[in-house]
Amino acid sequence: MVRIPFLDLPPLTAASGSVALPGSKSISNRVLLLAGLAAGTTVVHDLLDSDDTRVMLEALRTLGCGLQTEGRTLHVTGLGGRLQVHEARLFLGNAGTAMRPLAAALAVLAATQGGDFQLSGVARMHERPIGDLVDALRPLGCAVDDLGQPGYPPLRLRGTAGGRLRTAQPIRVRGDVSSQFLTALLLALPLVSADGPVVIEVDGELISKPYIEITLNLLARFGIAVQRDGWQRFTIPAGSQYATPGHVHVEGDASSASYFVAMGAIAAHGGAPVHISGVGSDSIQGDIRFVDAAEAMGALVRRGPGWLEVRRGRWPLRGITIDANHIPDAAMTLAVMALYADSPTRITGIASWRVKETDRITAMATELRKLGAAVVDGPDFIEVRPPAAWQAAAVHTYDDHRMAMCLSLAAFNPLCATAPGNVPVRILDPGCVAKTFPDYFEALFGLVQADPAQVPVITIDGPTASGKGTLAAAVAEALGYVLLDSGALYRATGLAAQWDGVAPDDEAGVARLAGMLDLRFGHGPEGSRAWLRGHEVSEQLRQESAGLLASRVSALPAVRQALQGLQLAFRRAPGLVADGRDMGTVVFPDAPLKVFLTASAATRAERRYKQLISKGIPANIDSLRADLEARDLRDTSRAVAPLKPAEDALLLDNSHLGIEASVQQVLAWWAQRRPFQA
Ligand code: C5P
Repeated sequence: MVRIPFLDLPPLTAASGSVALPGSKSISNRVLLLAGLAAGTTVVHDLLDSDDTRVMLEALRTLGCGLQTEGRTLHVTGLGGRLQVHEARLFLGNAGTAMRPLAAALAVLAATQGGDFQLSGVARMHERPIGDLVDALRPLGCAVDDLGQPGYPPLRLRGTAGGRLRTAQPIRVRGDVSSQFLTALLLALPLVSADGPVVIEVDGELISKPYIEITLNLLARFGIAVQRDGWQRFTIPAGSQYATPGHVHVEGDASSASYFVAMGAIAAHGGAPVHISGVGSDSIQGDIRFVDAAEAMGALVRRGPGWLEVRRGRWPLRGITIDANHIPDAAMTLAVMALYADSPTRITGIASWRVKETDRITAMATELRKLGAAVVDGPDFIEVRPPAAWQAAAVHTYDDHRMAMCLSLAAFNPLCATAPGNVPVRILDPGCVAKTFPDYFEALFGLVQADPAQVPVITIDGPTASGKGTLAAAVAEALGYVLLDSGALYRATGLAAQWDGVAPDDEAGVARLAGMLDLRFGHGPEGSRAWLRGHEVSEQLRQESAGLLASRVSALPAVRQALQGLQLAFRRAPGLVADGRDMGTVVFPDAPLKVFLTASAATRAERRYKQLISKGIPANIDSLRADLEARDLRDTSRAVAPLKPAEDALLLDNSHLGIEASVQQVLAWWAQRRPFQA
């Protein structure tokens, strides 16, 4: 999805169907680092493709690792523990799973093999603590400089070749702020285990233990059998070497699964479940335990290796009290499920939320209150009571992917049993999901249902060559809405008639073809593409001859009738922008915004002329204008659905407006019709 300022979700009423999860972020970035440190080539299957993995890959490439994509696999050729590049500046975005382990690994490598590395990230990364890790590395003999505020990135890691680290004594690290510090040491210190075992001792109560289990599990797959004594002491055996397992499969992201588990528990109430593939009963990720919490709230879950199937059980959901220390990321989803419970939900043990992508306790409390919930929050807990009355809210996402994904579930407010809502939910900066789940909203829209009357439609009608197609596409893109180019349906119908030798005035014959039109739309780098009966017809549909044919078949009432259902089916979440001649008058008479373009025939002929000439197609402006006027006449004078503005349409004369100005005008009109505060 292009980065759009906001995405409005209409009130949603049900969910069912299948979703395939993207790869786990935690597993992906650990596997990448291990493969990068190992000798030889590791073939990684189903790697997550997201912002956080991209910065890790970029860092590995800079450090001299070989990276080759082949279909859906990535071949990583590692360094074999030997630095190839001794000086680098690495930008790691907001990826804690890249920053912490790379800091540890490069500190150790620089200290022993010589090097000078600088690690930085986005502004928020520079507010996320790393001091406990630095405090563990310095006594070892690693030179770590704070380039900004002490205890936070950016960092500089230096050393000269031949340096030796003090690994004879246990290395102490705090475990009560982030488990990623311990993970970083566990991943990096096998590098210096040649002379003897390396012991790491944890100070304080270790949080997020399941993430340490992922680390140990993956280290074992790369040949390093860390010995664990409780959660306090970890021993890396002497002479540990990273050995590639050859192939590694990245399982689906269990934290990402939580949104779909919640969706099933809230909205799979029609019999069909939400089927989730990518994680299941055999998952090594701690967040899979979220499923137990969801069950406690009422979800009905079936599970097997690599899959989950969820439907609504108890309804309303039951409020729970839970210490979520073991599932910190997925627990955010419980806070939103709490909106659908008949009693309060209290989540404790989540102090770590305060040092994640944003201060998640404050962020969650603030945004849930905007929706109408009563929320109490403290240093390490949050308590949520469902809304007594839902409010249409524009929710901030704080550049935090999980805030965006969690809060999308508030769109099911019509289902709330204690106080049903019927409000849309605006997600600000929805593109932040790219951190771990770039296609999250597409996946969501693939599963959900909405009452069509609640799905907003913007109609853009107007005469031939008025620029409505371009305007509609730009408005749809700006809003993240579905696009209906209704003219293309008539053009394709005309083409189908031509292919089958049906005369354009054979009303019954053409209508029959229109009723079974096998037309698909897609996107390519050059814009929209179309396939008729499996054949690409993008170019053919754009030709003048197709337009003329369309204008003839579109005058036949039975043809218009036959295409009605197909057009209505485009009215899907999150919303629709429909362009044509009768979108506002006939097909979507209840559209909350109708625009009618009124550029003069002279202006339109000139535009079309320039367009054709720029493509190297010879044209004559007078005959173009004559053609346009003839089509206008046919479109405006036909008996059914003649071209005319709907009574409640807003007229837009774009004769002297550029495309951007026209788009801004339509968006400004649209903003006035939305229930959100500016
Ligand atoms: O908009 P476009 O030029 O692609 O439309 C081709 C023809 O299809 C128009 O000239 C018009 O006759 C017909 N049409 C229609 N109703 C629509 C869209 C297009 O009659 N909603």
